Amino acid sequence: MGEIFFQNTMGGRKEPFSPLHEGEVRIYTCGPTVYDFAHIGNFRTFVFQDVLRRFLRSRGFRLHQVMNLTDVDDRIILNAQAAGIGIREYTDRYIQAFLQDMRLLRLEMPETIVRATDHIDDMVAIVRTLLDRGYAYQSEGSIYYRIAKFPAYGRLSKVNFSGIQAGARVDVDRYEKDDARDFALWKAHKPGEHFWHTPIGDGRPGWHIECSAMAMKYLGPTLDIHTGGVDLVFPHHENEIAQSEASTGQPFVRFWLHAEHLFVNGEKMSKSLGNFYTLRDLFQRGYRPSSIRFLLASVPYRRQLNFTFDGLVQAASAVERLRNFSDRLRNESLPEQGAVVFAERIANAVAEFEAGLEDDVNTARALAAVFDLVREVNTAMDRGEFGRADVAAAAALLDRFDAIFAVLAPDAAALLAELGYAEAGGLSDAEIEERVAARQQARRQRDFAASDRIRQELAERGIILEDLKDGTVRWKRK
Ligand code: AMP
Ligand code: ZN
Repeated sequence: MGEIFFQNTMGGRKEPFSPLHEGEVRIYTCGPTVYDFAHIGNFRTFVFQDVLRRFLRSRGFRLHQVMNLTDVDDRIILNAQAAGIGIREYTDRYIQAFLQDMRLLRLEMPETIVRATDHIDDMVAIVRTLLDRGYAYQSEGSIYYRIAKFPAYGRLSKVNFSGIQAGARVDVDRYEKDDARDFALWKAHKPGEHFWHTPIGDGRPGWHIECSAMAMKYLGPTLDIHTGGVDLVFPHHENEIAQSEASTGQPFVRFWLHAEHLFVNGEKMSKSLGNFYTLRDLFQRGYRPSSIRFLLASVPYRRQLNFTFDGLVQAASAVERLRNFSDRLRNESLPEQGAVVFAERIANAVAEFEAGLEDDVNTARALAAVFDLVREVNTAMDRGEFGRADVAAAAALLDRFDAIFAVLAPDAAALLAELGYAEAGGLSDAEIEERVAARQQARRQRDFAASDRIRQELAERGIILEDLKDGTVRWKRK
């Protein structure tokens, strides 16, 4: 297998990847800000990270991935106040929802997943170091980072901030490039706000210091890979670099990998624009986790992806095609030797699949290799030209595919229900009719594996089929 290349936001080039510590890749992932349900834009970034970790693991690396849960920031404090509850109670609910969503999308658990508010001492320690070294200063009970003292500021986001007026400050966690100023490491306690009593004063941490503290605590001063969505490049990641490197004197991150956004009608999917869907929204409409996961994973992470329901339906049918193919490989009676020998063709598809992933996780290229082969083998099977001798190799390619894409196993209807998506199994009448028709079609084509699967899937959603003597089907809800 070939060398792995990643497009590094720092420097803007593809670079060959190898970890700093032999055999182990240390990854930090900015997790969700748990002030609300995550939307599928957020999950585009998280699915990318999952594909990345599955790929690295499948190449024999041990992983240590840390994901944080931002459970204190400006928005959380406001929302918790409005709800009249503490921030812990407020965020607990969204953390549980996020973990459930992760399971449904088959996102592997990072080795370490941690809450920001459990690391206040670690943050305070870094702020103290920054104060000692002259990178930070106090003003009215808050503590700010002095960006003029860190000449590399702007290297990641490729903006020249050298002309910025020293001492001008910004207090909010999220701001634009035009607002680049000394940013808050520690915010003075305001009446009514949640605060911690610490050696650097009563107050709460700024958002950026949270990630520096949790990343370095678990992974050491230098990480192999840091990921997030492109909106985090500035200011969040620029500030993480400034804080971390000024406190340790060592390089913070070797590879920065940023996922492009999920768009809707030409605009970034975001809470503030109101153009978002949560997983629950989509489950309620009868879409399955595997379709959503496939859609989000299918476009390479460095390319924008425009969300449409059409795209989601196509994703569902792509997953269906592969599941059918897998059934055919298992169940169809094939000649011992096919008229065409596929061994070399399959080996080439495997090589192309791997080459796609090695090329900065180019999932589109990897998928094309799989779908091209599936099309050819399906055609050969239809003609009786595909032999048993090639089944194992074709099945191995599917396994390889699924180790990364994780969509072939049936969607867990029971799990959906258990997690409170009871409605998720509830298909509309039209959707049921559609599946019943698909099953009839499969039966006419004598594809009994496919027809049984549809029956099974409907049964899992509580829908019972009854085959009538005249060849029609009656269905009812349990
Ligand atoms: P947040 O909860 O706002 O901190 O965001 C969690 C993750 O989702 C971050 O990595 C963001 O960069 C990412 N993200 C936010 N919106 C989108 C979007 N529309 N498409 C892809 N990723 C996004
Ligand atoms: Zn972060």
